[in-house]
Amino acid sequence: ADSHKATREELGPRQVRGALFTWVRPEPQQDPELLAVSPAAMRDLGLALSEADTDDFRQTVVGNKLHGWDPETLSGPGYPWAQCYGGFQFGDWAGQLGDGRAISLFEATNPRTGRRYEVQLKGAGLTPYSRFADGKAVLRSSIREFVVSEALNALGIPTTRALAISLLPHSRVRRERIEPGAIVVRLAESWLRLGTFDLLRARRERALTRRLATYLAEDVLGGWHALPARIDNPSDQAQALSPPRGIAPETLQGPSGTEENRFARLYREVVRRNAATVARWQVYGFMNGVLNTDNTSVLGLSLDFGPFAFMDTFDPAYTPNHDDALLRYSYRNQPTIIWWNLVRFGEALAELFGAGPDVDTDDFVAAGPTEATAPPIIARAEDVINRAGDEYKSVFLSEYKRLFALRLGFRPESPLPADVFDVLISPLLDVLTDLELDFHRFFRRLSTVPLADLAEEDSRLQVASRFLDDSDDSLALRNDDKARRERLADWLALWRERVVADWSGGESPDADATSIIPPEVDAERIKAMKRVNPNFVPRGWILDEVIRRVEHEGERDVLKRLLHLALHPFEDSWAGR
Ligand code: AMP
Ligand code: MG
Ligand code: MG
Repeated sequence: ADSHKATREELGPRQVRGALFTWVRPEPQQDPELLAVSPAAMRDLGLALSEADTDDFRQTVVGNKLHGWDPETLSGPGYPWAQCYGGFQFGDWAGQLGDGRAISLFEATNPRTGRRYEVQLKGAGLTPYSRFADGKAVLRSSIREFVVSEALNALGIPTTRALAISLLPHSRVRRERIEPGAIVVRLAESWLRLGTFDLLRARRERALTRRLATYLAEDVLGGWHALPARIDNPSDQAQALSPPRGIAPETLQGPSGTEENRFARLYREVVRRNAATVARWQVYGFMNGVLNTDNTSVLGLSLDFGPFAFMDTFDPAYTPNHDDALLRYSYRNQPTIIWWNLVRFGEALAELFGAGPDVDTDDFVAAGPTEATAPPIIARAEDVINRAGDEYKSVFLSEYKRLFALRLGFRPESPLPADVFDVLISPLLDVLTDLELDFHRFFRRLSTVPLADLAEEDSRLQVASRFLDDSDDSLALRNDDKARRERLADWLALWRERVVADWSGGESPDADATSIIPPEVDAERIKAMKRVNPNFVPRGWILDEVIRRVEHEGERDVLKRLLHLALHPFEDSWAGR
């Protein structure tokens, strides 16, 4: 804040040490055009939709107007900043990365929900973290991020959000071709990434690691005592998970008097959140495409949307990333890769986990590891990470099965059948793969098939043909194939049996195998399934078409219509399927 004018070198890309962010001003933008605003994000931020009509809003969402910052006195809470982080990219350490084209404006709390969001611009200009790039975002990628953020949220998948998208009419951004630039305003309760911790670890910034972890627990996650305790003993699982309020000691009490290092508990929370999110990605066929640690949120939010995709024809080996020759970020690898990232995170926190109850981590950070303390610290960290790995698996599997069971029409209140994965989910995924069926279209169609139509083998075969007719025309010949129809009809028979049992009171499936559920009950089942099986997901070709029409044909409404569909994915109304 002094009068020193920084030189271009001082302002440019650089290694930033001993700090986690840099104050930075967005570039001024001329004649920005506000293309679309998400009413859902406005509401979640606590803003009335009408506020988006003001010039103040239009200037704020491109960084022309800073709030709470007085340029006269050079003071106020609202000076923008860019974050410093690193990351493992495709498994290799990539060093410092940071917000190269993202600038956070301020934090805003919704007075009604108490939720605090960090409001950020993407594409607002150079930062110290821009490295060799230009700090800009093109319209194409901005439309993709804007739409998918809001679509994922509407599907119930944890994600960063998008508030507004503006076109910068005078910008010319050089990519493979020259493209117009744009700015998306995005929101998250925190933009911290696993890569933020990776960078501190790589630089041995031990005190800062501790401060950042403490900030995450205390300022983002609601305090140490809000973090659920580890459950070692299955008989304790029914016990209340919230420990008493008060000042956090180094270890936290769990059920039946067990003690737990508080940073280990923080680690487990980050692990659990990510496990729950990956489960949702898998159940909804979403692929991020670049799951580097710098794109993995500490809150388990879907984050940084590049070559993402929703599954079309079901193919577990699919990756939307053309550079991903080893299929590292393919659909079926996502759960493994997020765990790989979380192990790196555990390693970054390792010495905070302590070597046992005797080691005070404050002294430890000050003194550094000694020959005596290092081996127990490593053993302790391995133990914490391994246990968290078990929890990752169990949270992932239980969420995965629970959500798939809902998509398959099981009632939320009925206990999950223990064999639902082996009997229904896994065989279904094999059928979808082998018959090359469209993932989302299959579930939506399944939602509306009356169970009565599946009672007889002949009608089951007819239903199966209709599913197959839906798929690609080039498969039409093969769809005559009796074996394909029978394969699907067999699965439909199994499915019917289980769903009938569930809706007729949850008795054993065998007893109800031949029973019929009344049409009004089946109508309930259809409604429930439509609430979890989207009629609309933003597929690549839809985004491509909207991008083309906005960019080359000057259309505007088409983007708003697409946003509307993304915000209401379960509605019937869309005729185009
Ligand atoms: P991504 O692959 O999009 O997750 O980006 C990896 C890193 O590159 C992040 O630090 C980004 O901020 C940075 N980056 C990507 N594109 C640009 C750009 N056009 N200008 C500046 N930095 C960028
Ligand atoms: Mg990124
Ligand atoms: Mg990107």
